[in-house]
Amino acid sequence: MIPKSALVGRRFSLPVPLCIAALASLAFAVGVAAAVDPGEIREAEIRECRAGDLATWGDGRDRPAPSRQMFFAYNPTNAPADFSRDEVVAMVRKAMSGWAACGLQLDWAEWMPTLEAAPDVRVIGWMPASEDSGGLIGGADFVRRRLLLSPKVFAVLKARNPTLMQSTLQMTLSHEIGHFLGLVAHSRRCVDVTSYYHDGKGRHCLTENIGGIRSVKGVIEYRSDMPTACDIARCRRANGLQ
Ligand SMILES: [Zn+2]
Repeated sequence: MIPKSALVGRRFSLPVPLCIAALASLAFAVGVAAAVDPGEIREAEIRECRAGDLATWGDGRDRPAPSRQMFFAYNPTNAPADFSRDEVVAMVRKAMSGWAACGLQLDWAEWMPTLEAAPDVRVIGWMPASEDSGGLIGGADFVRRRLLLSPKVFAVLKARNPTLMQSTLQMTLSHEIGHFLGLVAHSRRCVDVTSYYHDGKGRHCLTENIGGIRSVKGVIEYRSDMPTACDIARCRRANGLQ
C-alpha cells in the first residue's frame, strides 16, 4: 500500500499520500510471445482512452482544482547538481504543456520568495538533502501548495540506474502536477502517469500488453512520463470540463 504515514508528521506534512513511489527496483516484463510489438501497445495505451478505462485504486476522490488558472514556479534551493535549473524548468514546462489538454490554464511564474504565499501558485522545489522522504521521490503538499522532490531518492536512483534520472524526474513532475489539478486518486492503468503499480496487498496495475487488459506483476517502468489520454480524460471529468 502507499505508505500513508511516510511524510506525515515531518517538517512538511501531507494531508494525503500524494506521492510517487521509488521506481528504481521495478522492472517491466511482458510475458507473452507477442505477435504485436509491446511498444506499440504501450503507445496505444498512452494515446487512447476507451470507455471503462478510467480505473483507479480508489485511494482518493478526484475533485476540481481550486482555481481554473494555476501558476507553477521553480525554486532550485537544495537541487542536486545532476539537475540544472534550466533542465528542471524545461521539464516542468513540458509537464504543464502535457496537462494543458485538460482545459485548465497553467502558466509559468519566475520564482521569488513572495510567491510562496500566493494562492494560485504551486512552487516546485527540493527537500533538504538530509530529509528522509520515506522512499518517496516526490509529493504534492496541498496545504503549503508545494511540490517537493527528494534529492536522497534521486541519489539512490543515480547509483542504481542513472539512465532513468531524467525520465523519472519528468514522470514525477507530471504525476505530482496531476494531483494539483484535482487527480487525487491514483490510476490503476500501469501506463498512466498518475498510476501506482500495486497496492501492496497483492493487487497489481492493469495493461493490455499481456493480451487483453489484465493485472500484471513485475511491472517496470511502463508508466508514461507525460499525461496519457486517460489522465487527461480523468482531469477533464474532475474539473467538469467534459
Ligand atoms: Zn501520487
